[in-house]
Amino acid sequence: MATTVAPAAAKKQGMYEVVMAQFERAADTMGLDPGIRKILAKTNSEIVVHFPVKLDNGTIEVFTGYRVQHNNALGPYKGGLRYHATMDLDSGRALAIWMTWKTALAGLPYGGAKGGVELNPKLYSQNELERITRRFTYALGDNIGPDLDIPAPDVNTNPQIMAWIADTYSSTKSPATRFANLHVVTGKPLGAGGLEGRDRATGFGVVATLKSWAQRTNKSLKGMRYIVQGFGNVGYWTAYFMQQEGAILVGVQDASATYYEPAGIDPDALNDHSAANGRNIAGYKGAGTIEPERFFAIACDIVVPAALGNQITKANAGDITAMVVAEGANGPTDTEGEAILRSKGVDIIPDILCNSGGVIGSYYEWLQNKRSEIWKIDDVLGMIQDKIDTAFNLTVDTANEFKTDWRTSAYIVALRRLEKTYKERGIFP
Ligand code: NAD
Repeated sequence: MATTVAPAAAKKQGMYEVVMAQFERAADTMGLDPGIRKILAKTNSEIVVHFPVKLDNGTIEVFTGYRVQHNNALGPYKGGLRYHATMDLDSGRALAIWMTWKTALAGLPYGGAKGGVELNPKLYSQNELERITRRFTYALGDNIGPDLDIPAPDVNTNPQIMAWIADTYSSTKSPATRFANLHVVTGKPLGAGGLEGRDRATGFGVVATLKSWAQRTNKSLKGMRYIVQGFGNVGYWTAYFMQQEGAILVGVQDASATYYEPAGIDPDALNDHSAANGRNIAGYKGAGTIEPERFFAIACDIVVPAALGNQITKANAGDITAMVVAEGANGPTDTEGEAILRSKGVDIIPDILCNSGGVIGSYYEWLQNKRSEIWKIDDVLGMIQDKIDTAFNLTVDTANEFKTDWRTSAYIVALRRLEKTYKERGIFP
């Protein structure tokens, strides 16, 4: 085998079907009010924009961007922006719907949205990405806003991109309101109004849920062997915090390569290599390689998918030997894959709980900006921990109440909150 075989190119994902199957199962289990079920089965608005950008070579390219706003019963829409070739209306819908459940489960005053641009950012220069981002922000116009819809980083977007969005959005408003608009996005760099700890919030949360899982099943993460698919923001920070727990990283896969190293992989050395290599792990010398399709078959205790959706499917779920799958990514397990994992007794920490540290961190960044304050990292991580622990306990208690799995119970916690709000407030007019 060549040393750096990239996994097959990602295909359009078909995630909407998965999120709706999960929703139907939870709605049936809890007996969700039929009217509210109808409301939540649809997205509130779906914005598609086509916008031109001049490339470095002088030619013009027209890009397609999306923002899907699912529901805002609990507060402003909230959710990431993804720059990826698989970005489309289907994935925008699914990811927006997951955000509604995630914010409701975490007890945040937010709704759910998602969006992005259909492109492979690795094909564009930094200057081109800046122009694409600024023009996309301009095209979205007042469809986003600090009290309306607040984007954040997701796949292939980062603090720099958030800073360009904040700057573009506020530059198109009156100078008098410039700093009142800073919180139109979260996940900004520290100098542009970001929050200390937001960079690591999602990985911190993934590990917080794994610690709760270990505690509830009388295990310790120390010495446990785990694999991570995706070595970007979520994958790296998960590995960083897992190392602090004494767990051993034995497999990593990203879009460029797949590694298996039974002796353990040093997350920081791999991250340094990836950072110097355009955020690709290919070419790393500290681990052996295996075929991409054998990745989920690696012998380990914990699997952390932290890349794209629909990665654990009927094609590979049967190969998984781990005790638990901690869903760092959104929608990494499809419906058939999940049925196989359940039949094998593999625990699943569902995405809307497992990766909620990111949006909880974003909430604190938004509050910090609204209050014109600057918060300390230890306080921030402590607040994230509290909210995740509460959501984890609610998920487990509700699973016991309904005698159901954790994904369904996490949905029920979220749906109950939304149902209560609709019932109390009524439907206009
Ligand atoms: P990122 O862009 O920083 O990293 C994505 C990683 O996935 C990269 O290492 C990339 O190489 C890898 N990848 C892409 N295609 C792949 C493939 N076909 N096979 C294997 N690896 C592949 O993105 P991120 O922010 O870390 O997001 C990862 C996942 O976590 C996404 O599902 C995202 O929606 C979810 N998530 C992110 C956050 C956040 O705060 N960033 C919060 C919650 C959930």
